[in-house]
Amino acid sequence: MLKQKIILIGNGMAGVRTLEEIIKKDPNKFEITVFGEEPHPNYNRILLSSVLQGDASIDSIVLNSYEWYEENQIELFTGDTVVKVDTKSQTVISQNGISRHYDQLIFATGSNPFMLPLPGADKEGVIAFRNIKDCETMIDTAKNYKKAAVIGGGLLGLEAARGLLNLDMEVEVIHIADYLMERQLDDQAGRMLKEELEEQGMKFRLNAHTERLTGKKRVDGVLFKDGSKLDADLVVMAVGIKPNVALAKEAGLETNRAIVVNDYMQTSVQNVYAVGECAEHSGIVYGLVAPLYEQGKALAEHICANDTLIEPGYQGSIVYTQLKVSGVDVFSAGRFQDGEKTKSIRVHDEFEGIFKKVVVEDNKVIGAVLFGDTSDSPRLLTMMRNGQDISKMSKVAILPSENESDEKESVVVAMADSETICGCNGVSKGDIVKAINEQGLTTVDQVKACTNASRSCGGCKPLVAELLSVTTGEEASSQKEPICGCSDLSHEEVAAEIRDKGLNYVREVMNVLGWTTENGCSKCRPAVNYYLGLNNPIEYEDDSTSKFVNERLHANIQNDGTFSVVPRMYGGVTNSEQLRKIADVADKYQVPLLKVTGGQRIDLLGIAKEDLPKVWTDLGMRSGYAYGKSIRTVKTCVGENFCRFGTQDSIGLGIQIEKKYEGLSTPHKVKMAVSACPRNCAESGIKDIGIVGVEGAWEIYVGGNGGVDLRSAELFAKVHTDQEVLDTISSFLQFYREDARYLERTSHWVERVGLDHIKKALENEEKRAQLIERVELALTKQQDPWSDVLESKDKQESLYEKKEVEVTN
Ligand SMILES: Cc1cc2nc3c(=O)[nH]c(=O)nc-3n(C[C@H](O)[C@H](O)[C@H](O)COP(=O)(O)OP(=O)(O)OC[C@H]3O[C@@H](n4cnc5c(N)ncnc54)[C@H](O)[C@@H]3O)c2cc1C
Ligand code: SF4
Repeated sequence: MLKQKIILIGNGMAGVRTLEEIIKKDPNKFEITVFGEEPHPNYNRILLSSVLQGDASIDSIVLNSYEWYEENQIELFTGDTVVKVDTKSQTVISQNGISRHYDQLIFATGSNPFMLPLPGADKEGVIAFRNIKDCETMIDTAKNYKKAAVIGGGLLGLEAARGLLNLDMEVEVIHIADYLMERQLDDQAGRMLKEELEEQGMKFRLNAHTERLTGKKRVDGVLFKDGSKLDADLVVMAVGIKPNVALAKEAGLETNRAIVVNDYMQTSVQNVYAVGECAEHSGIVYGLVAPLYEQGKALAEHICANDTLIEPGYQGSIVYTQLKVSGVDVFSAGRFQDGEKTKSIRVHDEFEGIFKKVVVEDNKVIGAVLFGDTSDSPRLLTMMRNGQDISKMSKVAILPSENESDEKESVVVAMADSETICGCNGVSKGDIVKAINEQGLTTVDQVKACTNASRSCGGCKPLVAELLSVTTGEEASSQKEPICGCSDLSHEEVAAEIRDKGLNYVREVMNVLGWTTENGCSKCRPAVNYYLGLNNPIEYEDDSTSKFVNERLHANIQNDGTFSVVPRMYGGVTNSEQLRKIADVADKYQVPLLKVTGGQRIDLLGIAKEDLPKVWTDLGMRSGYAYGKSIRTVKTCVGENFCRFGTQDSIGLGIQIEKKYEGLSTPHKVKMAVSACPRNCAESGIKDIGIVGVEGAWEIYVGGNGGVDLRSAELFAKVHTDQEVLDTISSFLQFYREDARYLERTSHWVERVGLDHIKKALENEEKRAQLIERVELALTKQQDPWSDVLESKDKQESLYEKKEVEVTN
């Protein structure tokens, strides 16, 4: 029998998923042709945010490679737009003149980004965030320009802004509403999100009405209705999408906001279907993949069932959203705004930065917003999907994460088999457990390949990992976590390969270890640079191009593009000569703000980049390393010489420690403190290494953190002499340098590996002596970075000199 011919217009996420469903149901029924406007095979558009943020490479987000099309005998035309559809003769014609006949036609043309019709929106440097090309434009722009404006404080705008920050651009998000993600969050969660993102370095202009974009050929700024202006070399519009229906309209299909379809995704024209963002079902156009995949399934069932309408078809979807910005957990689903008939359960823990709201109507959960802890999201989604009656349920049964007992049961253990783990792909706990047991799966990637779970936004990856460890009994920590999307190797493996193969350069590591990208990304380059320095502390030439901007320029970039300079003040002690110098520099360079930092030093804020070398010369002090992944500061209390309670010389010891370890590179910043008695005025209990004087001894605490993840340091050792303190610090620090992953604070490392593991490793005297020897070796290479720059004309020219740009238009 002759195969029926399907043509798919649009090689995107919904269309190709529909083909996958069709092939799964009946691999031999159809002869398939696909036309795609973009010059790529089908890729995961959702993960463009991760590519921009440096967490994935373009290659790694391909969902179906060219081989997949070949294996399934699909005729594929990429980079070729369909320009005409004739529903009478059942043919389509492409831009390149390809003509094909169809029996069944599927429109999956997605959306076009909505561009605000502002004067100046046609200038160079004004783009959307929709496809690989936009992503590449942003990455390229960041190489030559520094200021970006993102119009739109929704999901897409915030993900774009995070990516641009990671590319070392200064970013301001312009948003018309008075809080962020107002369509997904309520005002409380929106405000908490803003605070969290501000801490990550993002700036916001809320209630902002844009008037026009300025500049000649290229955009140079945004002008607002209130007359204020923002400088911007790149403007990313992320204000919404418009279903791409022009071709369908021309072909005579009924359209409203999008192509109108019934429960089987049939359009108004015989044998023509529409699926995805270009389709409108019951008056709703969906812009998230989970509903689109459900539509694809309904379409496939219908098309493979020879037109008999046996299935209930597509019945609409409950939508939910998760923001893909690392360190920010946000989830929202359904109707979460309060109404006349609604009641809600609210949890707001300002200490933990957690906000939860579950909205109930007629004894059913109809919406939820979770901020800071999203572990309840699968359960709430299932309750919403099933319309579960909650009248007899306690608050803890609805939000199990609020269970205050110390022995909290894992969320996945408490889930029923029918509950959904991966919302995007509709994969239940039962599906995953069955696949793990029947096919002996041991990694998240295998679960992904086998069940589709975590194949889209990746938000459920931690749950899949947890389920895997619960089901197999293996520790989740043994799951391999690649260093980034450029390589399959973990941090530990990269460090070991560098050691074993004696690799010496960043490029060499990437070539020898088979990186999938040519230049790596902002995640792997600094890590590789660190591991190379660790392995060969004397000969390795630090690769400054692989460092973040603050470390590259040895000063902290501020939100207006100027820099802050922190000279070293050992142990927080200074003198009149230093203060005079600082005051003179402040006058000479008209420093707008002098600030005493939390680490007991003076910060000079607002210095222009080109003035940095001159400022350092005039100060004549050493760098305070306030910008690096290295030893920062040793805070001290006044101690025995001045304080009535002090039993020890905290200032003397603090200065000794700071002088010894000054400049040592570490996986992340390391802060220390010495307090001379348990009153702890130097806050030793929340430092990476904190020392507290007790009668005749010093207690050494480790793994504390005073930042976002507040954590108390744990008692590590009690010693009697200053030398023993230094030896303990040396062995602990060197073990941290060698054992932790790059960008892992001591607090996270201690939590991951456990203090016992560290204590055990350092129990052995011989091992301790070797660690001390290795740290001493690394310390011999330390050089003050400011004087290093001052000695090099080349560095001053290439890194700090203001370059005049020739204007040609
Ligand atoms: C940066 C970003 C992040 C996102 N994050 C999330 C998320 O976290 N969660 C989530 O659920 N969703 C997310 N989305 C939305 C999700 O990607 C879309 O809902 C989904 O891709 C829509 O699928 P689609 O197949 O309808 O359209 P698309 O994937 O856009 O595919 C349509 C394709 O059709 C092509 N086309 C159009 N016209 C023609 C023609 N005439 N001829 C040939 N080809 C044509 C287009 O070029 C395009 O490649 C995100 C989107 C973006 C851009
Ligand atoms: S920690 Fe103790 S010794 Fe140090 S200043 Fe405070 S009270 Fe005095």
